[in-house]
Amino acid sequence: MTPSFDAIAIGGGLAGCAFAITMARAGRKVAVIERTRVALPKVCGDFLSAEALVLLQRLGIDPDRLGGHGITTFRMGLNDSVVDAPLGFSGLGVSRLLLDETLLSACAQAGVHVFRGQTVRAIEPTRGVVHVRTDEGRFNAACAALATGKHNLRAYPRKESGPVAYKMTFEPDENARRMLDGAVQLVLYDGGYAGACLVEGGGMTICWLADEALMRDSDGRWQDQLAFLSQRSGPLSEALRGSKPMYARPAAIAAVPFGYKRRELIEPRFYPVGDQLAVIPPLAGDGTSIALKSGIDAAEAALSGKPAGIFQQAFLRRLRGQFGWASAVEATFGSRFGRRTAIRSVRAFPQLATWLTQRTRLSGV
Ligand SMILES: Cc1cc2nc3c(=O)[nH]c(=O)nc-3n(C[C@H](O)[C@H](O)[C@H](O)COP(=O)(O)OP(=O)(O)OC[C@H]3O[C@@H](n4cnc5c(N)ncnc54)[C@H](O)[C@@H]3O)c2cc1C
Repeated sequence: MTPSFDAIAIGGGLAGCAFAITMARAGRKVAVIERTRVALPKVCGDFLSAEALVLLQRLGIDPDRLGGHGITTFRMGLNDSVVDAPLGFSGLGVSRLLLDETLLSACAQAGVHVFRGQTVRAIEPTRGVVHVRTDEGRFNAACAALATGKHNLRAYPRKESGPVAYKMTFEPDENARRMLDGAVQLVLYDGGYAGACLVEGGGMTICWLADEALMRDSDGRWQDQLAFLSQRSGPLSEALRGSKPMYARPAAIAAVPFGYKRRELIEPRFYPVGDQLAVIPPLAGDGTSIALKSGIDAAEAALSGKPAGIFQQAFLRRLRGQFGWASAVEATFGSRFGRRTAIRSVRAFPQLATWLTQRTRLSGV
C-alpha cells in the first residue's frame, strides 16, 4: 500500500526541514524525502544572519550549540584595497554540512519520517492528494512543499541563467585565521565576487562565482580560477596563501537564477519554498533566512487551510524591499566604476555598508 502523510517535504534542506518541523509540531504526520544519503558540502557562503539565527531558534535549534564562528564585521575587498564596516548585528559562520544535518536530526526528533537516499522523480498534485514518485517507491500526501533548492524538477522549471557558483572549505593557516577572525569578507571582481568566512572547527569557507569569461579562461579548473582571482585580489590571496583545501573538489552549481521569484501557482496544496520560491543575490547572505521563513510560513498556511497562491503572494510581497536593495547592490558591483565608487564610499562612510546590510535582511522576523 502507498504510504500516506498529511504533508511531505520534497527535499530535506533548510526550507524542507523548516516546513516539516512546523507541520510535525502541530501534530501532523509528515515525511521528508531527501536525495542524499549522507551529508555533503553544499554551495553556500555559510554565513548566517541574525534573522537566520532567530528562525533556527524558533525551530528548536540553539545556534550557540553549533559551535560556529561569531561574525560582526563586514569586509569588502577590491584589488589590493580593503575596508571594514560593522555588520550592525552578530552573525555566525556555520558549514551547511553541519546545519543541514542538524535540521534533519531536528526533523527526526519532532517525529518526521525522514527518507534519505531517495530522489523524487515525479509529482502529481491533484485536487485532494499530492502523489509523489521516487526512484524507490510512491508516497501520497494531503499537501506538499517543493523544497529542492537549487535543483529543479523537470515539471517545475525556473529560469536557467546565471553564473557557476563554487564552494570549497579550507584549513586556513594562522595568518588567514587571524585575518578573518570575526569577519565576513566579500572580494569583488569583474563578473562576480568571492565570499570568505570561518566556520565551526576552524575551517574556512570560500564561495565564488565564475562568469563565462572566467570559466573559459580557466578551462573550468577551480584551482586556476582561484589562482587567477588571487593575482588580482590582495585579501583573497592572503586568505588562500598557506591554506589547504579539505576536499578533492569543490561543490559547484551552474546557472543559479539570482533574483528569480516563482509567482505562478502550481496547485493550491503544493507550496514552493526556499530557492524554489525565490533566489536572492548571494552577496546578501540571507538565503538561509528566506528558506527557513518560507518553510515555516508555508506550513502555517497549510495548517490554516490557506492555498499556496495566497502564501506565495504574501511571501513575495515581504521580499520586495530586500530584493530591491540586494539587486541594486549587485548592479553596482557589476561595473568597474560601481565597485570603485562603492569601496571609496564605504571607506569614507562605513555606516553606509552597515545601513545597506540591514536593508538586505528579511523583514519582519
Ligand atoms: C554562491 C552562493 C552563496 C550563498 N551564500 C549564502 C550565505 O552565505 N548565507 C545565506 O544565508 N545564504 C546563502 N546563499 C543562499 C542559500 O544557499 C540558499 O538560499 C539556501 O540553501 C536555500 O535553501 P533550500 O532549502 O531552498 O535549498 P537547499 O538547501 O539547496 O536544499 C534542497 C535539498 O533538496 C534536495 N533535493 C534536490 N532535488 C531533490 C529531489 N529530486 N529529490 C529529493 N531531494 C532533492 C537536495 O539534496 C537538498 O538537500 C548562497 C547561495 C549561493 C548560490
